[in-house]
Amino acid sequence: METNSSQIYFEYELKEWQQRINIDSDFNIFKKIHKIFQPHPAWTVALDFPYLRKQANHIVSLCCLVHNTNSDIILCDKCGKLFTDPCIHAISSCDYLSDIRDEFWCELLCINPITFSAFLGSLADEDFCYILLSCETEFELDCEQKKRFQFLCVTYVYKFCKTFSHS
Ligand SMILES: [Zn+2]
Repeated sequence: METNSSQIYFEYELKEWQQRINIDSDFNIFKKIHKIFQPHPAWTVALDFPYLRKQANHIVSLCCLVHNTNSDIILCDKCGKLFTDPCIHAISSCDYLSDIRDEFWCELLCINPITFSAFLGSLADEDFCYILLSCETEFELDCEQKKRFQFLCVTYVYKFCKTFSHS
């Protein structure tokens, strides 16, 4: 029963989501993040780890919210740095979240090969965030490594954003 009801839930969410991205031109950025027309990988993570459903939902919603049209500069009241996108700031540069960032990088480093974390580390903040939001990378990982990466994306994007906005 549990499996059936969550499948229905995911199918419903997916249908709704597909309709939304097709109707609204605001989703152009989202389409850039989410290139492949298939359920966001976060849903797969949530199917494997049902307790991460809230986090998966969050990352998918964030993909719909990222706009690069907004170029207002905001002063962070937590670390004093300037930023334009709160999500990118929270994930990549806010000093207030450096403990979570260290923890996240430790986890990423544990995904072998080491060249993968070197690759991630070489990306610009914006590109790094887009990869985390999409839970997809062109870097060649085996199935287990990819799953682990997607699990970490879902878990940590939520952690970064919630800690940032709830403090
Ligand atoms: Zn900050």
